[in-house]
Amino acid sequence: MLAPHKTKLCALALTVCLASAGCTSPRTTAYNQPVAGSRTIELRNGQWFDGTRFVDRTIYSVDGFFAENKPARVDTVIDLNRGYVVPPFGEAHNHNVDATTAAAARVVVDKYFRDGVFYVQNPANVLRARSGLVGFINVPTGIDAIFSNAALTGPGGHPMGLFLRNLGRGAMLATDSNSTSGFLWTIADRADLDRKWPQILASHPDFIKTMLLYSEEYERRKSDSAFFNWRGLNPSLLPEIVRRAHAAGLRVMTHIETAADFHNALVAGVDQIGHTPGFRGNEKTQLPDFAPFLMTDADAELAAKGGVYVITTLSGPDGLPDTALLARFIKLDSLNLAMMKKHHVKIIVGSDSYRTTSVPEAMWLSKLGVLTNAELLRAWTEETAHAIFPRRKIGKLAPGYEASLLVLAGDPIEDFSNVKRIVLRMKQGQLIDVR
Ligand SMILES: [Zn+2]
Repeated sequence: MLAPHKTKLCALALTVCLASAGCTSPRTTAYNQPVAGSRTIELRNGQWFDGTRFVDRTIYSVDGFFAENKPARVDTVIDLNRGYVVPPFGEAHNHNVDATTAAAARVVVDKYFRDGVFYVQNPANVLRARSGLVGFINVPTGIDAIFSNAALTGPGGHPMGLFLRNLGRGAMLATDSNSTSGFLWTIADRADLDRKWPQILASHPDFIKTMLLYSEEYERRKSDSAFFNWRGLNPSLLPEIVRRAHAAGLRVMTHIETAADFHNALVAGVDQIGHTPGFRGNEKTQLPDFAPFLMTDADAELAAKGGVYVITTLSGPDGLPDTALLARFIKLDSLNLAMMKKHHVKIIVGSDSYRTTSVPEAMWLSKLGVLTNAELLRAWTEETAHAIFPRRKIGKLAPGYEASLLVLAGDPIEDFSNVKRIVLRMKQGQLIDVR
């Protein structure tokens, strides 16, 4: 849709000129209208995030990839009007990318696009709940997501409690335990792993999700009903699971609760850790003692050396009415984040918050203030995208990378809440229309 004059759109005027249409004076189109047939786009007058700061640049999108040099022919010019250009955001831990119908899939994709979150990891999902997503995800016009399918836990282990609740209200089936289409696999021992591993692979997971909960007390908890749902895999099985997953070309994410779980996951050789130790306190979501949840220098160093990604999931306590408890969470989480920052651990952003995307999590991390806004922005864009899709050139505004970006109306380094002021979205060279 072409209008004859420039129009103010949100806080920015984004001017699009169709060179092929032979316009001499720039024409304007609604910024969210994809320009049909456009292959080469000049993105001028923007301030581009380089991983630490914003720099003035002109960049081109050529067949869906960024290019630095002006191509021989430019189909479209977009004037970014001094907007702040960042790579799209990521969500490393959320179970809400599921939909059994096309209508439900549309709602999920629109929600993520609206928030600028293009890359998502779903660590534990029911296979059949993905059926509605076909055609809506992992296409240029949709968000990109990967799935672990059923998670691996010990008998009576987490998330068995959630499974039984869902079973009770009819949201899951009895067959969702220990089946290729299900929600979880219970692995009691090595023989059980041998039996179920071929079926696990047969469900074609994108990665393997494993559970460690209070693994330092595995023996004590494994058959005590008082610890139902507050236990996980036998930690001695995890190295073998990792070995088999890696042999199959799959990465492993491990759910953890304690600093000991964090250590056991690291020595098992996992690729990602699904939470920061102590993210929800103890089994009663209280924090009488930091000791079980404090990350050590040695483990932070081990994580950094192994290139292991640690997913935050720290915003749960945000808004707690118990302000004394909230203050303790803030203190513990800040200590663990500072420990990871000190050793250059790859921190990535994930919320584990079913109702939202990773935006509130990122806002909370900014409020904690351990990472600078620039560090947080890099973690949420470059690191998170790379953790989810390590083989793709995404998460950076650099030549050869996929031409995916967000334009913000204000500087997020100065005020992090500017990440919510998105005025333009582009994915793989196509402007994204949000409803
Ligand atoms: Zn989760």
